[in-house]
Amino acid sequence: MISENKVSYYKADSYLEEEITECVRKIFDDISADDILKNAKKIVIKPNLVIRRGPDACSTTHPMMLTAVMKQLEKYDARKIIVESPGGFFNEAILKGLYKTTGFEDAAKNSGCELNFDVESITIPSKRHGVISEFNVLREFEGADVIINLCKLKTHTLTTMSAASKNMYGAIPGLQKFELHARFPEIERFSSMVLELTETLAPAINIVDAVYGMEGNGPNNGTARFFGGIFGSRSPFVCDVVCRDYLGLPENSVEMLDVANQMGLCPKTVGEITLVGDLEEYKKRKLKDLKMPDTKKLNLITTFTQGFGGRFRRFLESRPVAMKDCKGCGKCADFCPAKAIKIVKGKAKIDREACIKCYCCQELCPFGLMGIKRFGIFDL
Ligand code: SF4
Ligand code: SF4
Repeated sequence: MISENKVSYYKADSYLEEEITECVRKIFDDISADDILKNAKKIVIKPNLVIRRGPDACSTTHPMMLTAVMKQLEKYDARKIIVESPGGFFNEAILKGLYKTTGFEDAAKNSGCELNFDVESITIPSKRHGVISEFNVLREFEGADVIINLCKLKTHTLTTMSAASKNMYGAIPGLQKFELHARFPEIERFSSMVLELTETLAPAINIVDAVYGMEGNGPNNGTARFFGGIFGSRSPFVCDVVCRDYLGLPENSVEMLDVANQMGLCPKTVGEITLVGDLEEYKKRKLKDLKMPDTKKLNLITTFTQGFGGRFRRFLESRPVAMKDCKGCGKCADFCPAKAIKIVKGKAKIDREACIKCYCCQELCPFGLMGIKRFGIFDL
C-alpha cells in the first residue's frame, strides 16, 4: 500500500529568488508540509553535493533551492542543518571546500541554516531488513524529526537516473559508499539496498531541483541542460516515477524504480499517481530527446546478446576506460571498490575481469578523464 501518492510540479525558467521561492511555497502547500513540520525540533536538509563544483556544472543542487526552502522554514523554531557527504575521502576541510564551491556556504549563512562538519557515523537498523540489516550514516541524522531531501535531477551511468531515491545514498559517509558498491555489485541488489536506506531514513519532504539538470554521462560528467521545473512530494519513490516520465524515459528503463515497485514503494506507472501544479507546462516541457549515459544506450550488439551471460556478455558491454590524457593521479584507483585499477606508465589501467562496473571511477575522476568505451558502433 503506497500511502503518499501525490507529486507537485511547477515550471521554473531560472534560479531567480522570487521564482524559485514561489515554486517551493506552492509545493509546500500542495503536500501540506506544515503538518509535517509544525512540531519539529530538528530538521535535517540533505542536498546533492556529490562533487566540489560550482552550481553552473549542474552536478549539485542549486543553492537557491536552499534559500527557497529556508524561507518556508522561517516560521518553525527548529534547528535546521545541512548534512551531506560527497564521494571519496571526507573530512572537515573537504566539507568546507564543498560548501564554498557549491554555493551552499553563502546560501546557508544568508538564510540562517547550520552546516554540518561532523564526519562521524552512527549505526541504524534497516527498517525492512531485506538485503541489509543495518547502515552506517552520518551522525547528524540522529534525532532528526524531519528530513528534507533536496536533490538534483540527473542522468546516472550506473542507475540511469538520479533524483530523490538515490540522493539519500549520500547519508553514507565518504569511502563507506565504495564498500557498499563492492558488497552489492549487481544493479538490482544495489538498488534494493539504496531503497532500503531511503525507506529507513524516510525523508518526509522531497524537493527535486529540475530547473537545470544533467544529461549524458551523469551524475558528474554529463552536460548541463534546461529541464524547466521543480518537483515535490512526501514520497521520494513516487516523486521519481514522475521524474522518470518527465525525462521521457519509458517504464522499466530505471532499474531502481522497478525494484521500488516490487518492494511496494511506488506504483509502476505515472498514470497511477496524482500530479498537481502546472500540468499543461508539464506536458509541454516533458523531454523527448534526453541524451542517455553511454552505459545505458542500446546498440545492436547489446540487444542481440540479451540472452547471453557470463564472460561473453561482459566482454561486449560498455566499460570504463581511462582517456589518453589521463594524468595518472591514482584517485580512481584509491576509490575503486573492486581494486581493479592500477596506474601503469602514468595511466589508469583497468582489470576487466575484476571490474564490477559501478562507474565510481567515472563519477569521481577529478578531471573527467575516465571515459566509457562501448563495443558496438551500431546504435539503436
Ligand atoms: S582516470 Fe582520472 S582519476 Fe584515474 S588516474 Fe586518470 S586522471 Fe586520475
Ligand atoms: S574500475 Fe571503475 S567501474 Fe570498475 S569496479 Fe573500479 S571503480 Fe567500479
